[in-house]
Amino acid sequence: MQRSIEKLYKIFKLEAEFNYTNKAVVGGLTKLTDTWQGDARADGLPEEKIQSVVAILNDYEALSIPERAQGLKKIGEILDNPGIRHLAHPETASLAPSNREPQTVPTDQPRKAQTTPRGKSRISTKKHTGTAAPAPVGAITENLTSPTSTVHGIGEKQAQLLAKLGLHTVEDMIYYFPRRYDDYSQLRLIKDLKYGEEVTVIAWVKSVSTFTSRNKNRKIIQAVVSDNTGSIQLMWFNQDYHLRVLRKDMFLSISGKVEQYMGRLVMYHPEYEHIEKQQLNTKRIVPVYALTARLSQRWLRRVMYTVLNNWAPKIPEFMTEYILKDADLLDLSTALKEIHFPETLSNLKKARYRLAFDEIFLLQLGVLRQKYEWIQQTARTYHVEDDWLNDRVSRLPFELTNAQMKGLGDIRADLVSGKPMNRLLQGDVGSGKTVIAALGIGIVVNNGAQAAYMAPTSILAEQHYTNLKHLLTNPEDDGAPLAENQIRLLIGDTPQKERDEILAGLADGTIKLLIGTHALIEDPVVFDNLQIVIVDEQHRFGVSQRAALREKGENPHLLVMTATPIPRSLALTIYGDLDLTLMDEMPPGRQPVSTHIVYPTERERIYNLIRSQVEQGHQAFIIYPLVEQGENEEVLAAVQEQERLQSDIFPNLRVGLLHGRLRPDEKEGVMRAFRTGEYDILVSTTVIEVGVDIPNATVMVIEGANRFGLAQLHQLRGRVGRGAEKSYCILIPQTSDAAENERLVAMESTNDGFILAEHDLKQRGPGEFLGTRQSGYAGLRLANLTDLHLIEKARRYAQQVFENDPTLSAPEHQLMLNALDHFWPSQKGDQS
Ligand code: ADP
Ligand code: MG
Repeated sequence: MQRSIEKLYKIFKLEAEFNYTNKAVVGGLTKLTDTWQGDARADGLPEEKIQSVVAILNDYEALSIPERAQGLKKIGEILDNPGIRHLAHPETASLAPSNREPQTVPTDQPRKAQTTPRGKSRISTKKHTGTAAPAPVGAITENLTSPTSTVHGIGEKQAQLLAKLGLHTVEDMIYYFPRRYDDYSQLRLIKDLKYGEEVTVIAWVKSVSTFTSRNKNRKIIQAVVSDNTGSIQLMWFNQDYHLRVLRKDMFLSISGKVEQYMGRLVMYHPEYEHIEKQQLNTKRIVPVYALTARLSQRWLRRVMYTVLNNWAPKIPEFMTEYILKDADLLDLSTALKEIHFPETLSNLKKARYRLAFDEIFLLQLGVLRQKYEWIQQTARTYHVEDDWLNDRVSRLPFELTNAQMKGLGDIRADLVSGKPMNRLLQGDVGSGKTVIAALGIGIVVNNGAQAAYMAPTSILAEQHYTNLKHLLTNPEDDGAPLAENQIRLLIGDTPQKERDEILAGLADGTIKLLIGTHALIEDPVVFDNLQIVIVDEQHRFGVSQRAALREKGENPHLLVMTATPIPRSLALTIYGDLDLTLMDEMPPGRQPVSTHIVYPTERERIYNLIRSQVEQGHQAFIIYPLVEQGENEEVLAAVQEQERLQSDIFPNLRVGLLHGRLRPDEKEGVMRAFRTGEYDILVSTTVIEVGVDIPNATVMVIEGANRFGLAQLHQLRGRVGRGAEKSYCILIPQTSDAAENERLVAMESTNDGFILAEHDLKQRGPGEFLGTRQSGYAGLRLANLTDLHLIEKARRYAQQVFENDPTLSAPEHQLMLNALDHFWPSQKGDQS
């Protein structure tokens, strides 16, 4: 074929792919005429043919789409070229799901060896000719749970690499969303390129050369490409591959960032593709996936494209037509396709919205179903006499706040309802949740049943053990619900002998209250009659851990507690299966903790503050983080600082040391010594972050404060200000610059956990303070929990569906039920 005709063929083929929208040449096909005439004459084509072609091209823009197709076909006839004559017809071409679908005109597509494993999966490398019905690229009979190796182009080796990304089935791949996108959809003429832009140009290779850079160690491969308006250099360093691939006169789509080199525009390491090939890496919004070693973006894009093309259209829509319309959602197949290979940024946005909507919708349906199931269950009822309860409350060392009274009332009502309590007690750090839980336990164990109280750290478990013994036992008090030996502590390091004793006591019912860490949910722990379960700092536990504790009893009452303040619509979504009690009041006399950012160079001032507080009988915490360096360094820093502070700074004070590497009995000893005032200062790692309650401590110094997240800082600050005395929280950033750190400034500006949580949501997303990763909300890949508008909307529709058909048994909800079961795969009727 003469070069001029081949050039037309390539361009027309591209134009057919674009459905004859006059996009194959920037500025329109008419722009071709000048240069093409020259080429055609050089090829010796008869002048009359040239002029007929030019006439059609000159009119091209004004033609309708079918006329354009006809026009190009006509050119094929004039030039007597079968390739051009048989370009796809627009009507059939538009049957393809997107106008960038591969066309079926024969092209030679030499594939790289690695992408064409030989074997049975290689079904469709046959060339298709003729009409443009969408061509199946791989076998399509497999269902979504087929292993990835059944996909055309994925061999055993590659399947193993994909497994490293957690991709085992076709469906895993479909839901493996790009990490980000490169927007190469901007097509430009070379003459219009501007420094710094990310663009695509369509151009011919003029030359390919190689040289070694002046410092001798870099081999530079350089190609000059040109369109009809100008030329630009492409450069690669030490990548011989391009020398083997690039050839003069190749017609390429080239994408990359426009840079400058010696005053001229260049692209370094651009992506490029033959123009007649499917464009997955250039000239579009290109997906960028998280990879693992030995997988390349290009390869993954190709197989993803195959998967999406074959399977996405077959994924059944589970959303009802009504919701799709009413909520203005993209259909599922399109959304999945667009999130991988977006046609436009606005389509991408719609696709993300749809898929995020699904996540919240299914999450909400799941928690509602959970609640529904719980409501069907019965639980033991526990009546309590007013006198008894009033007596208990009056024996407390303080008066309960109104919020605490309300919490207690809610729990009391749950216990007589005949249904299992499923309550979330939400109250900021220091609002006094423990005592409310203790009273709930008291009511249940007073009736002879057993209780379990789970805390996230052994330090906290020990603290609760001490506290609850104090609250629930008293040899002098006839009405005290328990005797001291009926309460036991079980943590990971409880010695075997004691453990055996505890297990025996639980099984025969002599132990009534077991407090501990996740050691409580281990296998050998069997209760005789567990009727109430308390989970403290619930965000620290996974869904399955809470479920495991519940399963130690038969429909026991469940109270989970959290200090994590979250917006209402979010709480309703994530904890929609739980009833909510909000304790929005602090015990009287609390003063806001006075919070200050202090530069590292001003430590001496802080030491003076500590000295004067200790003189007034108070105590101080000093926290060392170095979070990024791992626990060892954290411990080391604390150990060294304790020595330095004790010998150089506070020789007359008693400085204690606490860190995670101490034995449990050592930890307990240190905490006890601090609690009883044997230490004035406690140097610690973050092991004391949650729950620790030492009301006499009035100073919290946080070193390296810029390393912490807001939720953590707020929790640490919550260790002081727990009594009536004025307390201080001192945030010392690692460097003076870090004092500008937004989180520190936010901490300085408010004591309100609610405000801080919202701030944190905005800054870092929900994972941090909801602990979503541990808590089983990993299903939320796209839904941004800060998008309260989306949450509210998805929640409303889920609610609606649920109210009409709680068991999703209506035929139109069949697929929705499948999707729900799929979203909550591990669900065995319990997510709490
Ligand atoms: P949190 O809600 O963070 O778990 P705690 O239950 O540890 O808080 O209570 C914090 C401190 O407040 C404890 O020392 C507790 O004894 C005390 N406290 C609880 N309720 C009251 C109250 N109504 N009045 C005064 N102090 C209280
Ligand atoms: Mg607590």
